[in-house]
Formats: sequence, structure tokens, C-alpha cells
Amino acid sequence: MAEKTKENLTFQAEVSKLLDLVANSLYSEREIFLRELISNSADACEKLRYQSLSKKNLLKDEKDLKINIRVSKKKKIIEIEDNGIGMSKNELIDNLGTIARSGTSKFIEAMKNKKGNDISAIGQFGVGFYSSYMVADNVEVLSKDAENEETNLWSSNGKENYTIEEAKKDKRGTCITLKIKKDADEFLDSFRLRSIITKYSNYIPFPIYLKDLDDKEKEEKINEGSPLWLKDKRDIKEEDYKQFYNNISFNFDDPLKTIHYNAEGVISYKALLYFPTNQPMDLFNADRKNKIKLYVQKVFITDDCEDIIPNWLRFIPGVVDSQDISLNISREMLQNNPIITKIKKGITNKILSEIDSLAKKEKDKFETFWNNFGPVLKEGLYEHNDHHEKILPLLRFENSLNDKKISLEEYTKLMAKDQKEIYYFANTDKDHIKNSPQLEVFTDKKIPVLFMVDAVDEFWIQNVNKFKDLEFKSITKGKVDVSKVGEKSNKKNENKKEIDSKINDLINILKTELKETISDVIVSERLTKSPILLVAEEAGMDINMEKLMKMHNQKTPVSKKILEINPNHPMIVNLSQNLTKIDHKKASNLILDQANILDGNILSNPSAYLENLTEIFIK
Ligand code: ADP
Repeated sequence: MAEKTKENLTFQAEVSKLLDLVANSLYSEREIFLRELISNSADACEKLRYQSLSKKNLLKDEKDLKINIRVSKKKKIIEIEDNGIGMSKNELIDNLGTIARSGTSKFIEAMKNKKGNDISAIGQFGVGFYSSYMVADNVEVLSKDAENEETNLWSSNGKENYTIEEAKKDKRGTCITLKIKKDADEFLDSFRLRSIITKYSNYIPFPIYLKDLDDKEKEEKINEGSPLWLKDKRDIKEEDYKQFYNNISFNFDDPLKTIHYNAEGVISYKALLYFPTNQPMDLFNADRKNKIKLYVQKVFITDDCEDIIPNWLRFIPGVVDSQDISLNISREMLQNNPIITKIKKGITNKILSEIDSLAKKEKDKFETFWNNFGPVLKEGLYEHNDHHEKILPLLRFENSLNDKKISLEEYTKLMAKDQKEIYYFANTDKDHIKNSPQLEVFTDKKIPVLFMVDAVDEFWIQNVNKFKDLEFKSITKGKVDVSKVGEKSNKKNENKKEIDSKINDLINILKTELKETISDVIVSERLTKSPILLVAEEAGMDINMEKLMKMHNQKTPVSKKILEINPNHPMIVNLSQNLTKIDHKKASNLILDQANILDGNILSNPSAYLENLTEIFIK
């Protein structure tokens, strides 16, 4: 007979780092290891149940899917066993020795920088299994693959290596044995385990049994075990909703809002959806999927159905259960499926109207919601055209006239006399906006300007263009003429005529000297305090957009800027009256450099700038 081999394998480097982090995390959070392992077991049962729909003999005579937890003080072990799908040898290596998701290194970085290693978010990153090393100094995973019945034993002390060998196991599924660390023996108490299970895993849709191996008593079912979303709303306590939310989302805040409803009509389905209170850590990870689980008549089908909710609502966790989908549906058939499309439309509309009612009736909650998820919602204005009408009224912006965040509707009420456009200033740096010369004439004339401070604003605005019949107009781009809008500026220029000709001379000099970099030099309509300003051409890219694209290493066409000068500013007045006395080239360059500094740009030749400046000072 061939000898059984025991292979010694090394963890992927990232796994080792993660294990190191986990082993040294905070005591108070250690109990979550059980939640993570139970959640994995439940997933394994759901996977098996789903596969058995098409492979009839997969379940064999073990049709009741369940999770068994056993504990022994004497042996210092906890076992978590399920009769789910199990893992083959390759799956053990892939799933427990490597990390599939790209977000993990970010998680490790985030944890390292945080004081006290708040590890509770670990499940969000698809690495929950490793949390067992918070309480165990050795973990064994004995797994019998449901399909081909091969059994393997995976074992590791959670340092650098693990072993895998062939083994024997009667029943299908996975049994995880934790050898509990000395300082974690509190978890060997069955009462403690029972309270952890009811705290975190009450609504896992499979029975969880607990047995104390040192005790003769028979095992006991601990959890509620029936699907919460099918229960009558009146029988559900807030605490139940919260726990279910924590279970399915891996968020550990309280839900900001719970939406539980029955849709009946052409398509009928039940949905239980949540608005989180906090922003999930991985919200902006590119590979983050939505958090909606799809069930068909209580059977879990998938949590990977991209088509069930728009990407810009990806922060909403929940469950959708429909009788109108065939139980035998394959995951591939869910793509472009007309029923899924209808459900998607239904839940999107429902969510948008719930956000709207939050905005109208629960202002504080809406503010929290908006601060966390506003930028994501705006992606909906960029990606699709279907929901503009419902999303636009939800937008909130800071503005130049008061300290409030206002809606577009409120903006229209603040508009000045004869104002026909919605003015906005887009820049992710709010201080830059507030201190920017572009705002001067608007502030003077009390014309409201919206501050668009999210990176996504630059993108959706180009797709939307209008609110009602008012066009959006960037005040950092092209000509902005507000001479006929609002109150008259009270700053009059008495010697206007005389200055004009001299200013014209200055303009001509600047045009000639700066023609390589500047497309035009004009008298500014918007400056009232600052001497100069750079603006993008009307057809050119918004200055801030150009910076953004550079930041993302996108090739940008080099567009020449327009230089605006303020004919009333003492510096400009003085310059224009001393044109014969100054070096035109140096003065022009100095002005351009100053305009660039004001615009937050990096000077291409800072030492030439300093030289010119010094020259003036020592004259
Ligand atoms: P996650 O569960 O978020 O994917 P884990 O690190 O907890 O991340 O688990 C990694 C993978 O190992 C799982 O995705 C699953 O494929 C597999 N796995 C873990 N526990 C079990 C189990 N009890 N039965 C079958 N497969 C499991």
C-alpha cells in the first residue's frame, strides 16, 4: 500500500502578515472568531443546497443541513462542524493558504495604522477564517468534499507553514478544531459560547447545535434559524433586524434605516434592505461587490448577482427572495434575466423614495446618510440616465452664501435677480474654493455658487447639464459675465477712460510676452479684490478636471489658459502706469507665475520666479 504523504506548505506572504496582525489583536473583540467560522459553515451549507438543485444525489441521505459546535474544557478544544459542501485538497490550499482579494493588503495597512487594531471589519475582506488564530494556537481543518468524497486534513499553528495530508471522515463537510490558547480559555465555557452564538448568529438560516463534550447532557439547538425576511414585520423586534443586518453585511454599526417590504404585482418578491449608519471601509475599493443576497423560496441562490442592484447603491446590504424565479436557475442565467431586471427596478425605486422621505422627514439621519453615501449616489448620475429626476433633488451642496448644505431646489430660491444659470465651482479642496479669486464678484453681488467638492462631481455634471431648465455653469471655465445679474457692484471706477488705454497697453504687452503659454489676456469681469486670475477656455477642459485627470495619470491635451486682469487693482494700475520703466519680459513672467501660484499650480521654474521677485525688492 502506498504511504500517506504529509505535505508541508508555506503561506502566501500576505497571509503571514495578516496572521501576525490577527494574533496580536485586541482581547475584547476576540469573540468574533465564532461568528466568522459559523458564517463560513452557513455559506458551505448554502452552496451545497444550491448545487443539489441540479445534482440530485449530492445530499445523499443527509438532507438536513446543520452546524454543530462542540467544546471541551478538558481537551481545551472547540469544534465547528458543518455538513455543507466541503473542500477538496486544492480548495484547502487556495482558500486557506492564499488571499484572493486585492483589498486585503489595504486592510492590513489600515489596521496597522489604527490604534488598538479594530479587527471587527475582518469579515468584509473575505479573510474571516484567519480570525480563529485570535483564540487558537493551532487550527485543524478536516474536510470531506461533497462531490468526490476525498478527505484531507489541513493543519497549522498560524505562523509560516501549514500541512496537508489525506485523512478519513465519515460525514460530508468540514470540521474545524481549534486548540484554544491559554489566555483564551474563557471561550471553553459553553455558556459563553451560547451567548456569542445568540448575539451574532441567531438568524443564520441553519440550525446551530451546541454540545459540551465534558457533559453528558445532549446537544441543544441555540439559534432561531428561520429566515427573518419571511416573518411578519409585527413579530420582528428592532434588535432582530439589527442582528440580521450585522450578519449579512459584516458591518457592525446599527442600521440607519431598515426597509422590509413585500412587492406584489407583475413580479412578487420580499425584500429586506438596510441603509448603514457608517461608511463600510471598502466602499471605494474597485473590486467591491454589492451586498444583496438573492434567495428563491428561502433557498440561497447567490450573493454575486451584479444585475440586482445598481453599482451606485452598492452600500446597501439586504436580502431579496422571489417565488417568480425558477429554483433551477443557474447563476449564468441570472444575467440579463427579465425578472431580475424588474426586481432591480423595483428595489432601486423603493430605495430612492426611502432616501427622499429621509430627506423630508428625518433631516438628521439624512445628513448622516448624505455625508457617507452622497458621493456614491452621485455615480448614479454619471453611469445611468434612468434615475436623474429622482437623484437630483437629493443632492446637497455647500455654497458661497451661507454655511448650510443646500439642495438644488433651495439654490433656485437663493438665485439673484436675472440669474439664468446655476453657478458652481468644482474642486476637491474646499479651502481652495473659499479663498479663490474666482468667487469675488459672486460674493460681492450675492450670487450663489455651489461648491462641488467630490471628485465625482466633475464627471456627472457633464452628463447632466441641467436642473429643471437651468443649466449648470462652471465659474472656473471660459467667460463668466454676471454684469447683468444681481445687484450692481458698488465699486465704481472714476478714471475709467484714462486707465483703459494704459491697461490696453499692458494687455498687449502681456499677450506678446506670454503667447507661448496663454491664449488670451482680458479685463476680468469677476475679479474685485485680486489682481489676476487664470481660467480655462470655454471649450477647454475645466482647470480642476485637468488636474484630476493628471492625478489619475491620464493624458490630457495641453490647453492654453486665459489670463484675466483686474484693472482696478493697485498692482495692475501701478504696472500700467510705469510701462516704460519696467522690463516687459520679466514683469509678464512674474505676473504669470503669480497667477499660477494663486491657482495652486507648481511653477515650472521657481528659481526664475524668485530671481525676478528679488530683483524688484532690492531695487
Ligand atoms: P470568506 O468566507 O469571506 O471567503 P474566509 O477566509 O473566511 O473568507 O474563507 C475562505 C474560503 O474558504 C471561503 O470563501 C470558502 O470557500 C472556504 N471555506 C471556509 N470555511 C469553509 C467551510 N466550513 N466549508 C467549506 N468551505 C469553507
